[in-house]
Amino acid sequence: MTSAEPDLEVDVVVIGAGGCGLVAALAAHEAGAEVAVVEKLPRLAGNTMLSSGSIPAAGTRFQAAAGIADDPARFAADLRRTAGPHEAEALVDRLADISAPMVEWLADTIGLPIELIGAYRHVGHSVNRLHAVPSRRGADLMQGLWQAAEERGVPVALATPAIELVVEDGAVRGARVRTQGSAESLIAAKAVILACNGFGHDRELLARFAPDIAGAEYFGALGSDGEAVRWGEALGARLANMGAYQAHSAIAQPHGELVTWTVVEKGGVIVDETGRRFADETLGYSAFAAPALARGGRLFAIYDSRIREATAAGQPDFGVLVAHGGAPDFADATALATACRLPPDVLGETLALTAGAAQGDRPDVLGRKAWGMGPLQAPFVATRIAPALFHTQGGLLVDEEARVLRTDGGVVPGLYAGGGAAAGISGQAGGAGYASGNGLLAALGLGFIAGRAAARLTRTA
Ligand SMILES: Cc1cc2nc3c(=O)[nH]c(=O)nc-3n(C[C@H](O)[C@H](O)[C@H](O)COP(=O)(O)OP(=O)(O)OC[C@H]3O[C@@H](n4cnc5c(N)ncnc54)[C@H](O)[C@@H]3O)c2cc1C
Repeated sequence: MTSAEPDLEVDVVVIGAGGCGLVAALAAHEAGAEVAVVEKLPRLAGNTMLSSGSIPAAGTRFQAAAGIADDPARFAADLRRTAGPHEAEALVDRLADISAPMVEWLADTIGLPIELIGAYRHVGHSVNRLHAVPSRRGADLMQGLWQAAEERGVPVALATPAIELVVEDGAVRGARVRTQGSAESLIAAKAVILACNGFGHDRELLARFAPDIAGAEYFGALGSDGEAVRWGEALGARLANMGAYQAHSAIAQPHGELVTWTVVEKGGVIVDETGRRFADETLGYSAFAAPALARGGRLFAIYDSRIREATAAGQPDFGVLVAHGGAPDFADATALATACRLPPDVLGETLALTAGAAQGDRPDVLGRKAWGMGPLQAPFVATRIAPALFHTQGGLLVDEEARVLRTDGGVVPGLYAGGGAAAGISGQAGGAGYASGNGLLAALGLGFIAGRAAARLTRTA
């Protein structure tokens, strides 16, 4: 990790062209820095592209226009209630504080057509505060960021993986990258922003840090190979919240599409291949994944045609799954059981018990209290599902300026991190601490902070 004559010299080099990297680059450019972005993959294909692009923010003008009273303190309290204690506490308030200015900057400065999502609130939020572009697709969010980078002349080099950080006297001074084929280039910079996401695609790091989910299918992007963790460890950086992750319990089989947890929130249940429920579904889509993985075998989301129609009306991606035949309905529980090869008597008993709990006749045996649209009614709908890992939430601990911290409490000079490369705010371990939108909040929020902070550093360096 030593320097030689650089092939390129910039103020700030950003590693990774996902949501974090592009926001960091745009923010640093706006603050006057000369920036270059390097991306490992030959096209934009990180987790932000795969996401549904929901960004939580508190106290925005979009909320005010919808008559929603919200503020950073309420948001931070929601985040803490969901996550419980963890090692990145200081970031909770910082990200809650920055969330509204960041989302309004995306709308007003970057020009994204941001809207407040009114159709659903989702896990961990006491008011509607998820914002997104109208299509609710991360790909369109990324398209807008990419276009903004192009318009401003911020270079993004695709198919250019960073393979090593350049370090001089303990300070990070650039990155070595691989260009065409096996050629290598050295980019010298006053600051480096790690925006290369987490380690969801690296089985070894997963087994080491998040063994409870290591056996699940990985549903995220291929570029998440854990370089930030490896480079950070070599530099004495502090790793934090390493066992935390976002999972999802319901990937439709064999379609491979996400089944929105809204169908569960509206009253649906999850049964195993014996026709029985096995955990309180209101744990949330991420937390439910570990019990679902442990249960194994064939799993089904069971809901009804009212829920299906109401959900499809507000969530186009789910509408696509319905159109592809992923949410068929059945006249009664016996027909559903026969089609899904479930024991009809057991399934019938499960649905009867569930209906009793939903209409308040008796407490639910698994402790569920919220039943959305009430007891399920025929015709019933079934979707076969499997749990999957979306992304890891552990990473390099950063301070409130997104500077990477060392195990001794000092900072690694010149090094910033955000998004999946940094320690998240979703609890210390497991999938239960993840509030909807924590991924993009850490990606775009820390990118916004890191870009500005790195630009400031370059003015003083
Ligand atoms: C299906 C799905 C749905 C989701 N929905 C939501 C949602 O609605 N809201 C939400 O908040 N979160 C959501 N998430 C999580 C969210 O997408 C991520 O937390 C967030 O996008 C991470 O952003 P990032 O910029 O850190 O990573 P990415 O967007 O993955 O970008 C990292 C980039 O770095 C590149 N890279 C990696 N290593 C190198 C290297 N050595 N050199 C150069 N480039 C490198 C990668 O190829 C990648 O392009 C979802 C995740 C999935 C998988």
